Amino acid sequence: MKWIVTSAWPYASDVPHLGNLIGSILSADAFARYHRLVGDEVVFVSGSDEHGTPIEVEAVRRGVSPKDFASANHKRISELFKAWGISFDNYTETESPTHIEFVRDHYMKVYRNGYVFTQVERVHYCPRDKRFLPDRFVEGTCPHCGFRPARGDQCDNCGRPLDSVELIEPYCVLCGGKTELRETTQWFFDLPKLSDYIMDYLERAELSENVVNFSRSWVRAGLRPRSLTRDSEWGIKAPFPGAEGKTIYVWMEAVLGYVSAIIEYFRVQGRPQEWRDYWLNPEAKTSFFIGKDNIPFHSIIFPALLKASGENYNEPNLISSTEFLTFEGQKFSKSRRIGIWIDEALELLPADYWRYALISMRPETGDVDFGWGVLEEKINAELNDAIGNFANRTLIGVQRFAEGRFELSRAELSPKYAQSLEAILRRHRDIGECYAKAEFRSSCRLILEQATEANRFLSVEEPWRLARTDRRRSLEVLYVALNALKALAVELEPITPRLADEIIAQAGFFRKRGGKPLWDDVSIEDDLPIEPKNVAPIVRKISAVELKAKLEELRTRKTQGKPPR
Ligand SMILES: [Zn+2]
Ligand SMILES: [Zn+2]
Repeated sequence: MKWIVTSAWPYASDVPHLGNLIGSILSADAFARYHRLVGDEVVFVSGSDEHGTPIEVEAVRRGVSPKDFASANHKRISELFKAWGISFDNYTETESPTHIEFVRDHYMKVYRNGYVFTQVERVHYCPRDKRFLPDRFVEGTCPHCGFRPARGDQCDNCGRPLDSVELIEPYCVLCGGKTELRETTQWFFDLPKLSDYIMDYLERAELSENVVNFSRSWVRAGLRPRSLTRDSEWGIKAPFPGAEGKTIYVWMEAVLGYVSAIIEYFRVQGRPQEWRDYWLNPEAKTSFFIGKDNIPFHSIIFPALLKASGENYNEPNLISSTEFLTFEGQKFSKSRRIGIWIDEALELLPADYWRYALISMRPETGDVDFGWGVLEEKINAELNDAIGNFANRTLIGVQRFAEGRFELSRAELSPKYAQSLEAILRRHRDIGECYAKAEFRSSCRLILEQATEANRFLSVEEPWRLARTDRRRSLEVLYVALNALKALAVELEPITPRLADEIIAQAGFFRKRGGKPLWDDVSIEDDLPIEPKNVAPIVRKISAVELKAKLEELRTRKTQGKPPR
């Protein structure tokens, strides 16, 4: 099976925080890793969303070009994702020439097919800066809640999206002066023309119930044309005749990156036609990992844009949306320093610790609160006491009671232990089903159960006691334990890939495949004899109090500009 796996494109104005990460990229990574493990052909892509007025305004404030500002952030974000073990096949950017070329071609097809029209609009203009002021280039008082300064596209206080002409007492963010409204022609995507198609698609697609219900209510409320252009320099030049000096609205081009990033991936591989086997092949599947606020863009606007091109693109097959993650009861906020950002996190703990804690708490059915206490509980009680401890007990058992070389065939197992193996395999299958449905919290819960049951098995069977009285039976117990450990390593790979590799390396599993795990191969028959190497604990306990203090220190050091110790 061929799978396109994608996650929402992070906006390149800043490093993402932990809530951003679990809401899209980390979830997509677990899904991509699972499908590779079962032997599917996966192309996992995303990229930095670099255009739009928030980046342009920030760059102007810093006195740098938007391109330099965005590309420096893109580089930093890409490196962080590598450090987090995100297994992208292509993490690109919207400034990539392939993306720009694709977006312009795509919109010319949409235009020729009659889905683009123009309309004259009144837009803020600054006579001193001699430029139009789209979106965030204007601020003023929110017409809904009275908050000032509300941004031109959204009020940060009441959270409502705004049209900048609604702002009370608007001003230009560049010079602070009064703005005037000037008429300008804008181009629009005729989304209402595709209402019937979208309703059919929602009927036909096997999307989750919350996505379908949410999207249908959107369509029933009446789809509106979507603004396609902005009077702004920073972005992709609009290709429409007469649209010189305009760029494509950032939301309407970044979403096409799902296609262009796959095209770019295969170009780099030297197989430029192969993207068609993914995007234009009805046998291939597409998946999208996004936050809940992004649903209509993926279930309505994106499929409509693909359809309007006249090409036979695959539609979104799986849209997995998450609710919000809060931090210690509050929304993440950079200015108020609430939350943890993905660069800071790696200075505190190995990536896999965070990956485990975040995926096991993924907000799948409602908002979830994350914090120091729950992090400590997840790492110490689950990752260390249950999972890490079991791995260590089993491998030390082999060293002590099998003289470091374990060999016993499955055929020699007594029926009682053969049954224990069956239970491990059953749970392994259940975990696989959860991964396939993108229900990662359930995968985590069952993995923990796998480890807890395996620990209990060792405590009940006491191989250390049997080793003195009934050596043969102690080996049978170790056989079951080693099998559980191999299953656990494979099951952990999508969530904690480095810990999984560590177990595989210490135990010497998958030797014949160079240590590369495979979902369906969890019998240890092929690994015999098992001779554990460099056995050591794979997880260490953490202290929330110490970590919190360390983070404070990190932040103080950063704001004071001292070099790291
Ligand atoms: Zn407001
Ligand atoms: Zn101005």
